[in-house]
Amino acid sequence: MSVNQQAHTGPPYGQPQPGYQGYQQPAYGGQPLPVVPQSQYGAYNGPMPGYQQPVPPQGYFPSLGFPSKGSPVSLNSDTSSLAPNFIGSLRAPPTSGAPPPASGASLPSGHLAYSQLGHGDVQNGIPASAAPMQRPPASQPFLPGSAPTPVSQTATFQQYGPPPASVQQLSNHMAGMTIGSTTASAPPPAGLGYGPPTSVPPVSGSFSATGSGLYTPYTASQGPSPTSVSQGLPLAQPLFPGQPMSTQRLPTQVPGFAPPPSSAGIGPSSYPPSTGAPRPPTMPGPPLPGQTVAGPPTSQPNHVSSPPPPSTMSGLHPGPPMSGLHGPPPPTHPSQPGYQMQQNGSFGQVRGPQPNYGGAYPGTPNYGSQPGPPPPPKRLDPDSIPSPIQVIEDDRSNRGSEPYVTGVRGQVPPLVTTNFLVKDQGNASPRYIRCTSYNIPCTSDMAKQSQVPLAAVIKPLATLPPEETLPYLVDHGESGPVRCNRCKAYMCPFMQFIEGGRRFQCCFCSCVTEVPPHYFQHLDHTGKRVDFYDRPELSLGSYEFLATVDYCKNNKFPSPPAFIFMIDVSYNAVKSGLVRLICEELKSLLDYLPREGNMEESAIRVGFVTYNKVLHFYNVKSSLAQPQMMVVSDVADMFVPLLDGFLVNVNESRTVIDSLLDQIPEMFADTRETETVFAPVIQAGLEALKAAECAGKLFIFHTSLPIAEAPGKLKNRDDKKLINTDKEKTLFQPQTSFYNNLAKDCVAQGCCVDLFLFPNQYLDVATLGVVTYQTGGSIYKYAYFQLETDQDRFLNDLRRDVQKEVGFDAVMRVRTSTGIRATDFFGAFYMSNTTDVEMAGLDCDKTITVEFKHDDKLSEDSGALLQCALLYTSCAGQRRLRVHNLSLNCCTQLADLYRNCETDTLINYLAKYAYRGVLNSPVKTVRDALINQCAQILACYRKNCASPSSAGQLILPECMKLLPVYLNCVLKSDVLQPGPEVTTDDRAYIRQLVTSMDVAETNVFFYPRLLPLAKADVDSDSLPAAIRNSEERLSKGDIYLLENGLNIFVWVGVNVQQGLIQNLFGVSSFSQISSALSTLPVLENPFSKKVRSIVDMLQVQRSRYMKLIIVKQEDKLEMLFKHFLVEDKSLSGGASYVDFLCHMHKEIRQLLS
Ligand SMILES: [Zn+2]
Repeated sequence: MSVNQQAHTGPPYGQPQPGYQGYQQPAYGGQPLPVVPQSQYGAYNGPMPGYQQPVPPQGYFPSLGFPSKGSPVSLNSDTSSLAPNFIGSLRAPPTSGAPPPASGASLPSGHLAYSQLGHGDVQNGIPASAAPMQRPPASQPFLPGSAPTPVSQTATFQQYGPPPASVQQLSNHMAGMTIGSTTASAPPPAGLGYGPPTSVPPVSGSFSATGSGLYTPYTASQGPSPTSVSQGLPLAQPLFPGQPMSTQRLPTQVPGFAPPPSSAGIGPSSYPPSTGAPRPPTMPGPPLPGQTVAGPPTSQPNHVSSPPPPSTMSGLHPGPPMSGLHGPPPPTHPSQPGYQMQQNGSFGQVRGPQPNYGGAYPGTPNYGSQPGPPPPPKRLDPDSIPSPIQVIEDDRSNRGSEPYVTGVRGQVPPLVTTNFLVKDQGNASPRYIRCTSYNIPCTSDMAKQSQVPLAAVIKPLATLPPEETLPYLVDHGESGPVRCNRCKAYMCPFMQFIEGGRRFQCCFCSCVTEVPPHYFQHLDHTGKRVDFYDRPELSLGSYEFLATVDYCKNNKFPSPPAFIFMIDVSYNAVKSGLVRLICEELKSLLDYLPREGNMEESAIRVGFVTYNKVLHFYNVKSSLAQPQMMVVSDVADMFVPLLDGFLVNVNESRTVIDSLLDQIPEMFADTRETETVFAPVIQAGLEALKAAECAGKLFIFHTSLPIAEAPGKLKNRDDKKLINTDKEKTLFQPQTSFYNNLAKDCVAQGCCVDLFLFPNQYLDVATLGVVTYQTGGSIYKYAYFQLETDQDRFLNDLRRDVQKEVGFDAVMRVRTSTGIRATDFFGAFYMSNTTDVEMAGLDCDKTITVEFKHDDKLSEDSGALLQCALLYTSCAGQRRLRVHNLSLNCCTQLADLYRNCETDTLINYLAKYAYRGVLNSPVKTVRDALINQCAQILACYRKNCASPSSAGQLILPECMKLLPVYLNCVLKSDVLQPGPEVTTDDRAYIRQLVTSMDVAETNVFFYPRLLPLAKADVDSDSLPAAIRNSEERLSKGDIYLLENGLNIFVWVGVNVQQGLIQNLFGVSSFSQISSALSTLPVLENPFSKKVRSIVDMLQVQRSRYMKLIIVKQEDKLEMLFKHFLVEDKSLSGGASYVDFLCHMHKEIRQLLS
């Protein structure tokens, strides 16, 4: 479909560049961002005049202004009068190892014991080092077991540690699914474990099959068409006349289920674009009421409800029928998965699932056990079922070359894996909004029948590539943006001007509104305003309005936001070197705070807090010679002991800040305090922002479960025995509602909380993350943090997090045209009503997924419109509205819906839906509901859109042919089906991460990218062609890189040429490669450079710095790696792709019968 050729050709805004240059700045430690020239929309009014950094009075005496409970302590000698003791002189000699007995510890000379500092005392002149001063008896024994562990083992096992299974066992599992293998039960010798254990030469075959050359001829993207899955079909046989053939790949057909001839006429190439491939015979039209196969997706329990076969305990048993479905269920004998209706007679030779397939799922131990007596089963040929790699490559070659122009309603954008440029001609870029379908059923009944969720994945502040234009900033002056009188929608390209331009009719609610005099403009002969192309809000999909004071809290323009850095200085944090690392990094990072456009310096003020069981605030006022510390030990009622001097301008206070950051590691070097508080830390930051009357962000660096006596104190309630019980959901729920209430307060103040966690044991991410999650913040987790191996990753994350574009005090509202409305929201935010998504902070990586439901009929003529409006405060304190508009088509034929879906977005929605579901329902219920919903989606297609052919034929809509493989990846993910080594914290962490992911991130997270490296073209800038995530695709003579957005694995086969090993690792043999490496050695040869450049390229693409893990074939770590070979069976019981596809087919057949 030549989607890009229908756009209108009005003058683009390419020449005049936007005045809004939000956040452009030299990137710290990264790529410099391009500076965008000024534009005709240079409405940017400059920095807000309101905020002036107060000049401190000379001779300021710190004690005067402090609330009575604070205990200011000069950190270092202030030459003017204050504390005589230098921090440096206060340090006791470092103690060794574990904390010394606390109570008897001798304080360094000059220290006062903490207890000597009564609340309310103002302790100027008192020695500075508070931590040593307040060393109480260590109430929490230091646990040696919680100390950092060796890198090569624990550190790399933290997230997806393999179960204690042997490589041989694993091979055994894998062997069970190889093509045509009849020797599955025999574990291959170790050396043969990476290819099919048959005589088929696995390696070369696998790789050539995935070579890029095979993908190019495929033309399916010209129009979606069904994928029919036909079993036993000779692979080389052309399936569709005119369809370019590959002898090894039939992209639109999934052999194994059906004879191709019956699907004639719906072949992939026979579909013209969405302009309407006439397919009368196969389109039965609007569904009959009786055909409704299920309720809406939100009704959780509509999963399989009839009793499962006795042999299975879990949801993936070969499907029992749906309740409410017509017709009796087909036989559910697991060994007869329903291919009897195969027309080509080949069923007997090639069958789908293993006879004991029913045991394939969790709770059924016989999965992976060997078939036993049944005839040697022949598997589906994995090469013949829909390949994610092929789909990705096809889209790249078909749609990556020309710009995606957004002028056409209902266009399906290229896949997220395709590089393409976007030209905004009236609809928001897919970088801002992606939809599950771009053609919505006109009626609620149709939508229910299809079970296709209608959702938009919205990333309002998405970063654009340098070649694309940032949203223009429009300033309507004091009158503010022009809006519909009734529904308050903002002026947009779809508003209809009438009566010579004096009024406009709202495209969302049809209300007619007077055009304000200052906004009046004449219409041309087509009814279009003559200034159409001069106004972004009339001709573009995305733009910004400068907000007036009416859009501000308390009718007052906001102050610039503040960043508060809050550093855990308890024993573990200090001992690991973390405290010193953070302080060192902040010294340089503070020069790179987000700046607005061409502003010389950042308007953001900064403040510093350290804490363990008590909090230490620091006065870093520019007039001070040295920073001063104020200790607050009354954590039960947190307050901020100083106002003036706590939040400062970096440049003005530079010297004092540097001094503070130098001293903090020294001050706490000898701490033996192991306990921490947590909620009071957030409260302190919140109170500081309240006092300063600004929004802001807390950067909290935290190491342990907060067990010290304080509000929000937690207990260790981790219990993996709850997995697969009804109580499993409690592991994802916060253990106290305290943090929910705190989050609410934070949101009200615009206090966003970013959390950097460095746990050595369980610290209850599910609870600690509540505030972060509800304030729109980010969580980063570095289990068993070790300086050597983890500092790069942490520092890269920190740099990016501090510098990235973020809007504060944000409220998002999604308006829709009559007929549908936003009903459900997924993401990191807080909602106090049913329509407004509130985020204390919203950064450029955060995504909100919105689900829509019908509340009336839609019409094909008018289509459907979405308008997402985000009100936020910029990093300079400017109040703005960012508006994204998107127009969608509406259909009365289900086939149109299925032709315009986007599976990646669908999966994003389904994963978030499921991940939220585990908070309230047993995980098994959630998995069953997912499977059932997808089976209904596909069954509805099969019934209403595909040609009436054999029921034994699995026909998948072209746009959804990857739905089964991707869905299986979601089902097997750690949240829904954890392996034994996945920790409770990991699951809570991933659950929260995924909830804010965009479509590109969920895509690679659930189906990782796997790149063969050995033959990579060292002279090219491009990435090697990816291969499918299955062990049988790996050659032991090759090196592979696998990335999923969180980790990068470099897998080295045992037979890799010595030269390659030398070039990449600088060692002479396989055995000398260290799996403890966290980076690749920098070697001066083309191969090393190429691989490192690939790694760098991938790192840049992701919002988090990925952990690099070297995996040697047959090494212990390999099981960790295999966890990500998602087309294979997983050790946690997840099905292989082949098995799952068979299972889906069975489910579909049951729904259809
Ligand atoms: Zn309206």
